[in-house]
Amino acid sequence: MTTSTSPSRTAHHGLAVHEVVLVLGTDLHRGLTEQEAARRRATFGPNTLPAPRGTGLLMRVLRQFHHPLIYVLLAAGAITAALAEYIDSAVILGVVVINAIIGLIQESRAEAALESLRSMVRTETTVVRDGRERTMPSEELVPGDLVVLEAGDKVPADLRLVRAVELRVDESALTGESEPVTKDEVVLPTALPVADRCNMAYSGTLTTTGSGAGIVVATGAGTELGEIHRLVGAAETLATPLTRKLADFSRILTVGILALAAVTFAIGLVRGHDAVETFTAAVALAVGAIPEGLPAAVTITLAIGVTRMARRRAVIRRLPAVETLGGTTVICSDKTGTLTENQMTVRTVWTPEGRFDVTGTGYAPVGEVRDRHGAPAALDDEHALRWSLLAGAACNDAALSGEDERWAVVGDPTEGAMLVVAAKAGLGAETVKELLPRRATIPFSSERGYMATLHRDTVAGPPTAHRVLVKGAVERVLDRCDGQMHADGTVQPLDRVAVHRAADDLAGHGLRVLATAVRPASAPTGPDQEFTEDSLGNDLILTGLQAMLDPPRAAATAAVAACRTAGIAVKMITGDHATTATAIARQVGLLDGHERGRAAVLTGTDLAALPDEEFPDAVDRASVFARVSPEQKLRLVEALQARGHVVAMTGDGVNDAPALRQAGIGVAMGEGGTEVAKDAADMVLTDDDFATIEAAVEEGRGVFDNLTKFITWTLPTNIGEGLVILAAIVAGAALPILPTQILWINMTTAVALGLMLAFEPKEAGIMTRPPRDPRRPLLTRALVVRILLVSTLLVAGSWWLFAWELAHGATLAEARTAAMNVFVAVEAFYLFSCRSLTRSAWRIGFFSNRWILVGVTVQALGQAAITYLPAMNTIFDTAPLGGDVWLRILLVAAAASLVVAVDKRLRRGREGTRPERAPRAASRT
Ligand code: ATP
Repeated sequence: MTTSTSPSRTAHHGLAVHEVVLVLGTDLHRGLTEQEAARRRATFGPNTLPAPRGTGLLMRVLRQFHHPLIYVLLAAGAITAALAEYIDSAVILGVVVINAIIGLIQESRAEAALESLRSMVRTETTVVRDGRERTMPSEELVPGDLVVLEAGDKVPADLRLVRAVELRVDESALTGESEPVTKDEVVLPTALPVADRCNMAYSGTLTTTGSGAGIVVATGAGTELGEIHRLVGAAETLATPLTRKLADFSRILTVGILALAAVTFAIGLVRGHDAVETFTAAVALAVGAIPEGLPAAVTITLAIGVTRMARRRAVIRRLPAVETLGGTTVICSDKTGTLTENQMTVRTVWTPEGRFDVTGTGYAPVGEVRDRHGAPAALDDEHALRWSLLAGAACNDAALSGEDERWAVVGDPTEGAMLVVAAKAGLGAETVKELLPRRATIPFSSERGYMATLHRDTVAGPPTAHRVLVKGAVERVLDRCDGQMHADGTVQPLDRVAVHRAADDLAGHGLRVLATAVRPASAPTGPDQEFTEDSLGNDLILTGLQAMLDPPRAAATAAVAACRTAGIAVKMITGDHATTATAIARQVGLLDGHERGRAAVLTGTDLAALPDEEFPDAVDRASVFARVSPEQKLRLVEALQARGHVVAMTGDGVNDAPALRQAGIGVAMGEGGTEVAKDAADMVLTDDDFATIEAAVEEGRGVFDNLTKFITWTLPTNIGEGLVILAAIVAGAALPILPTQILWINMTTAVALGLMLAFEPKEAGIMTRPPRDPRRPLLTRALVVRILLVSTLLVAGSWWLFAWELAHGATLAEARTAAMNVFVAVEAFYLFSCRSLTRSAWRIGFFSNRWILVGVTVQALGQAAITYLPAMNTIFDTAPLGGDVWLRILLVAAAASLVVAVDKRLRRGREGTRPERAPRAASRT
């Protein structure tokens, strides 16, 4: 909501920081007060974009008529009206209107399903209010709020930056510029266009590196993004590769069928039939044979799949992902947080001269650091231990919050664990801050593998003493060490072999091992003195190793096993050490002991050393990738795809975005992931759990099955309807089913019967068969044969009863009514058969999809109405039938189902035992 006095109208980039603070009535350090924020919230409303108005109702209605088939129908309606065939004309136009209404309802349902997902993935943001930093949903921001930005955050509102440290922002959502832009807090000329305002960060853009802070100058619709949103009003596209393929298919079919209808019309004329009747018959052929409901049914089925996945905590961001998921052949998963709990507890601290066990679990700072005799370690006598704990706690950006039993970490769990162990030894966060006030930071990044900080050292040295503290991956820290600290505080030459041995031993138990190191430093010469990787030097003193437990997730082992049964290979990709990764992989059943040696576990270094031609094969064979950099993830996805795999890849960091985009299914973490990763992903896991990916794949397979079922059900109807008319005209016989009756069948059965298949529950054993081969066509030969078989049965059955009734004294109207009812009855019976592609209708349980029963009941009522209601009799040229006719109708339908059941049974005998061909690796691992 913006008013004329809205702060968004001011050119904030042209003001100095103190002027912005003044204009927006805020405080540069303390932010707004909660009271003031609440008041502004009442004035400006929530920080959300108004729901896209989408296209207006009229346009949406008109769009339903924009289809070649509808043009044909409209022309037919007009011509029949001109020929004074008013009832036919009214039926045709009625069909057009009903078709439009159904189309509209289906479209809105699918859109609503997607829309409701949007609210499931919330953007959280860090705000300073009343002088305290806190995270809150970005909807709650108001103009004047002081927002803190970190790499990976989505900018939650339009901000005038007041601080920027190496801050780079990806503004492609706003400006189309794909290169991230460097930001600054300098004052700019007022006339600059949006793309050049480098002291502003705009809502919807993504922070890729660095950090910063800014004051909210506009929220919701008042932001630049809101402006674009208003102009475009873009609605979500519902198209997927499959719906597009099907739409193309129906277009080609339409042209073919129209040609066929024209030929039929010509034959009818040549045979001397009534021109009007032949014309409507040709139209009916066209309408009956074109599967116009197909794309809509596919969209609905996908949308239902999306809702089912959301219930299992997998939120689909792009509709095509539902389709792709079912075909997944490889899942590449992060270790930390996805296969494991991401609940770290330091269990052991190793120092060059000792080993200390830590008691207590979780983040409560309750427990002890014990020496080898089981007594609490005396820090005054254990200098290496003390400096390892200090380095872990001071070179740290996390915080502990809570009391009593309920302790939690704000920030990185690895860092949280290091705060906890220090606190257990009496070095609480406040104490550490007082002992070692921080002067500068080199933040942790996956590429760097460590974090370093510069502190004033009040522990031992003179008042001016300073100290560098480092913590990080063992190899990375050791690379920069040349000495090690002993218990008495003296520095000895580094014994690399002993350190590696100790680290390997700890990692072998599945513990995550970080090294800590220190170095005395000279005082910084000024506030701007650079503290960079270069100034860190290579003469650090190793103080110890901290080994933490991160237990595997309870459901991960079962989910990994389920994937393997389903022929899906699971690969772990982690930044952690190979030994730790291997131990965890064993625990979750990802390595079962048969895959020994280098082939199953590859490190980032191994990957870099592999020749290009061997790369895909080696990647396909390995199950664990350790110390992998985000750039290598992209290469891994590409290699697997080159081997024909459909890859699902998880990621959470900014640098994972390219790999997430490249993967068939990019999977981001809803809890621990950055906004950048979520933005690049096709699916977001709201619980970060590996088991959820497995659940989503299962749902994806179900969706694909249901699509195939619908198509297998609907095509025979279309073909049968077309054939009945074609055959009658070619044979010069009376039409067994009238064009208006065909229209009735077409409209009612697609909705009342066919659509109910979208609600079909997943078949048992859906995760015991291999993944669908992406190259395999939707309809296998067996299904094509079944479709043709059913089409033939429909034509033969209705034709036979039509002839039989006539021969036994029925009127033409009665015989036609019987034939039409045969058509519908066969379709209804066949619907039960289509509920499973392989198993018999009896096996799957009659009541397992109640929607089918509802649909059949509705259709039966419809048939009773068209058969017995006088008004309907007049419109559709039908006539009431006796009980014996119904018996014959049901008999024909039952006979037809028997034939289908036998065909299914025979095929199962022949093909059922032969498994579908799966991509190579999927069957091997
Ligand atoms: P995954 O990729 O499965 O999530 P990960 O969390 O171990 O695994 P990274 O975050 O890339 O991957 O971490 C790589 C390594 O860097 C870790 O194994 C650890 O040794 C070290 N490390 C992790 N977090 C920190 C941190 N906050 N400070 C310093 N070093 C860290």
